[in-house]
Amino acid sequence: MRLVRFEARGTESYGIYIGDLVHPIAGDPFGELVTTGEPVPTAGIRLLAPVAPSKVVAVGLNYRDHAAEFGLDIPDEPILFIKASNTVVGPGDSIVYPGQSERVDYEGELAVVMGAETRSVPVGEALSRVLGYTVSLDITARDLQVKDGQWTRAKNFDTFCPLGPWVATGISPDDLAMELRLNGELRQSSRTSQMIFDVPHLVSFISEVMTLYPGDVIMTGTPPGVGEVSPGDAIEVSIEGIGTLSCDVVSSD
Ligand code: ZN
Repeated sequence: MRLVRFEARGTESYGIYIGDLVHPIAGDPFGELVTTGEPVPTAGIRLLAPVAPSKVVAVGLNYRDHAAEFGLDIPDEPILFIKASNTVVGPGDSIVYPGQSERVDYEGELAVVMGAETRSVPVGEALSRVLGYTVSLDITARDLQVKDGQWTRAKNFDTFCPLGPWVATGISPDDLAMELRLNGELRQSSRTSQMIFDVPHLVSFISEVMTLYPGDVIMTGTPPGVGEVSPGDAIEVSIEGIGTLSCDVVSSD
């Protein structure tokens, strides 16, 4: 199933995307799904980020092939950082290249969307708290990440966390193909089976630190092939079983 958040005639709703129609649902997708009202043709809607997370928890250096690419040691625990809610934009939205940075990078990532309030969940029960999966970009001002010595500014400019196009439910995150194209050219290609810490371990580990709420998002790290973007670029990230997230990059002035 594909769960979307969308705007039609000035109203924001959640819905189920089937064929070329969106079936609106009552309330949010975190409880029982109840459709309401008339289906809306997808041609007449704007897809939004599929959830509005209270926080996005991201994981650094979580792909074996990416660690090998840079000759880095495999971490013995996940390295966590936060992307604040202001960073989230939807499919088709623009990433604004900040004037403070001279080096902005793309990182295509599988994103986990939480379906239930979760605190201290064991690894074996972790997936039962997950609503589904979406595609994400962890946009990073690389020069500021190095300059600042910590990552808050580098990771948290407005628009630095595109999410979408929907939350895919009923799929396994264990071994999905993922690809990122910059202006049509393949730049990242890997599989989620290359993760150092898999999704159940990440959800469990993070839930021992902080309570996760329905709609919160976990970004699971990026495979090799990270690189620079410029205003005017078009980025497409595709993950098997989910779909394609497309964004462009625009100048801040
Ligand atoms: Zn990342």
